[in-house]
Amino acid sequence: MNGTAHTAIGAATGFIVANTFHSSPTETIIFVGLGAVSGLMPDLDIDGKLRGKITLSHKVIRWAALLIGVLMVFYSFYEGRAADKWLGIGIGLAIIVVSSFIKQKHMLTITGIGVLAGGISLSEVWLILLGVYIVIASFASHRSYTHSILGVIFFGIIAWKLEGSLGMDGVFYTCLGGYISHLLADLKILPFNKRGIKLFLPVSKIEL
Ligand SMILES: [Zn+2]
Repeated sequence: MNGTAHTAIGAATGFIVANTFHSSPTETIIFVGLGAVSGLMPDLDIDGKLRGKITLSHKVIRWAALLIGVLMVFYSFYEGRAADKWLGIGIGLAIIVVSSFIKQKHMLTITGIGVLAGGISLSEVWLILLGVYIVIASFASHRSYTHSILGVIFFGIIAWKLEGSLGMDGVFYTCLGGYISHLLADLKILPFNKRGIKLFLPVSKIEL
């Protein structure tokens, strides 16, 4: 199933959760957005060319990384104290240097490291875990670990921490529901799927 379909199903999942929780219009928009993103998440494991199509273009990522690096240097310089200050400046400079080496192939890995660094500096556990998820996904082969029960559990923890951070009921169900909807849509029993998913990795390689 393609990205557009996964996004639509994820968004619909968010809408259903919003209705179940009798959410406000603003929350409903947030849930639809979170559901759409979660529904696309497992396919961050797509290799090479396709991966470039899912994330933003090469140049945008490079400029974004550069900007994050520069902001981090300035922020650390003015706000940081003692050791933190130099650590922040160091990480910022490292991001600036690395951003100039970004190639299509490493784009996702570097994006993940950027998210991880952002999570550490903001002390947000969900963002740290999301960074780890993206880095792992960038190395995983397509339809493997991100499309397994292990992947669901890992993403579920991210969703749980995000709900705690936002203090908004329904975030956990929206994200988890969006993610699971992707795996269901990728099952081999559906006529348009040539391949299934290895749900029980690493215990079993059976394709469902
Ligand atoms: Zn998929």
